[in-house]
Amino acid sequence: MEHPLKVFRYCPACGSERFGVNDRYSKRCGRCGFVYYANPKAATVAVIVNGMGEILVCRRADDPAKGTLDLPGGFTDIGETAEEGVRREVREETGLTVTETEFLFSLPNVYLFSGMEVHTMDLFFLCRVDDGVPPSAHDDAAEAMFVPLSELDVPAFGLRSVREGVARIVAGGLGKLLSGYRGNMSSAPPSAEAISENEL
Ligand SMILES: [Zn+2]
Repeated sequence: MEHPLKVFRYCPACGSERFGVNDRYSKRCGRCGFVYYANPKAATVAVIVNGMGEILVCRRADDPAKGTLDLPGGFTDIGETAEEGVRREVREETGLTVTETEFLFSLPNVYLFSGMEVHTMDLFFLCRVDDGVPPSAHDDAAEAMFVPLSELDVPAFGLRSVREGVARIVAGGLGKLLSGYRGNMSSAPPSAEAISENEL
């Protein structure tokens, strides 16, 4: 692994060139003593499942991994919770409103942005959305569609952590959650209108 602060050549506090490696995650200024640690950036990934057990898949509009499959999500903003972040990203990318979130698992990743290897901590959330509202692709998503779990093409997901997360979900990690979800749905089944809209 290259040093996470490799592109930071000068001390951000005093501008000195003597901004050297302190340890594998940090740099220290030999002139003013400023120390900076690289920590993973918190990012969210939305696992959106509809009442028929289909998962919402997007196609990436931009690099990295432009054109590959993806799940909605992105970096959290300063000051927001991860739950707020995943709701915001889902709204921005798919137009859907998340009504409930449940943390699933986390996976670290490296995301090449602006020529820099950005280390992330991707937080996967099971997200419930209102049934009957079709997704529409915006922002970082070129396409958004519901796909049956059994038809998910795992290698077609371009970002490593998302690919691993989808593989984990396909391998059965979501089974219990889905049965719980279906259990909830049985007390309030989706309307016929909602079902027909989802089938479009
Ligand atoms: Zn300095």
